[in-house]
Amino acid sequence: MSTGHITIDLDAIIANWRALDKMTSVETAAVVKADGYGLGAATVAKALAKAGARRFFVAVAEEGAAVRGALGPGPEVSVLSGHMRGDTDTIGDLGLTPILNSLEQVTRHFDALPGHPFGIQLDTGMNRLGMEWDEWAAIAEIALAQRPSVVMSHLACSDEADHPMNAYQLDVFHKMTDGITVPRSLAATGGILLGKDYHFDMCRPGIGLYGGLPFAQARPVVQMDLPVVQIRHLDAGEVVGYANSWQASRPSRIATLSAGYADGLIRSMSDKATLFYGNEPVPLIGRVSMDLLTVDVTDLKEDPHALTLLGAQQTVDQLADVSGTIGYEILTSLGGRYTRRTRGG
Ligand SMILES: *Cc1c(COP(=O)(O)O)cnc(C)c1O
Repeated sequence: MSTGHITIDLDAIIANWRALDKMTSVETAAVVKADGYGLGAATVAKALAKAGARRFFVAVAEEGAAVRGALGPGPEVSVLSGHMRGDTDTIGDLGLTPILNSLEQVTRHFDALPGHPFGIQLDTGMNRLGMEWDEWAAIAEIALAQRPSVVMSHLACSDEADHPMNAYQLDVFHKMTDGITVPRSLAATGGILLGKDYHFDMCRPGIGLYGGLPFAQARPVVQMDLPVVQIRHLDAGEVVGYANSWQASRPSRIATLSAGYADGLIRSMSDKATLFYGNEPVPLIGRVSMDLLTVDVTDLKEDPHALTLLGAQQTVDQLADVSGTIGYEILTSLGGRYTRRTRGG
């Protein structure tokens, strides 16, 4: 074992999906964009389809093709970036459902693939994707006559339960959609936790499935173990790594591990992150290099063969916190060099 090892607990993903589903009385889709938040869209989608998920969301048509390939015909695969130039064949041939974001996309879709399924995204204040009031007013009647699979919007601040933006966007969404008879959707993971008013007809959790905040009760999904390449003994005063950023204040034992920023263990973890030998914490010291990182194992009773960075001892959000980012970014940055195993499903 020379690369880092990642174990993805598909049973935990299924349990998280079921737990989020139980919090609402409406349909629960699954967001598997960015290769299933870095954990493998095909395996995640297959496991969740077996567990009962019938609607999947990806960011772009290319991801939709991969998910369709894994799931076969049947489940709805929706593309959040909509129907972009050059997507027509993929959308048409693979039966993807573009979530149309603009008048331009609506026109393109109706011209290129008349009668083909689609959804609509409205902008309720995030100003990222979706149609605004005047655009929607201009085409709502025509679009609704074609029975979109969903009319949806996205919350900008749903991870903060008492942020006033939540109620504001809810109000705008009501004003833009009350009275329509097609399914509506507003909530991702954060919106589910905001309560019933935000659930409408379908919810679209992503991060909560993968064990991330704001779903604090989520079961951890990822275990990451990093092999020790070498252990060395340092005298007090010796330094470690690039820029000499760490200096031994006592005789020390330093383990060099096989993983670095090329594996998504970002440089801002330098001198800050904690790894674990069983349940014993050991500090990452010095700079994270491209392929290596260094850990002070002086206080361990034995020489470790591997240390754990993610698992029951430490969640992605705890690791994200010390390095100034969010769980989403840690997960989607992990990259292709790990040996990956899945468990359950
Ligand atoms: C990413 C995304 C989701 C899922 O959000 P999470 O916060 O990961 O649950 C849902 N809807 C849209 C439009 C998204 O972009």
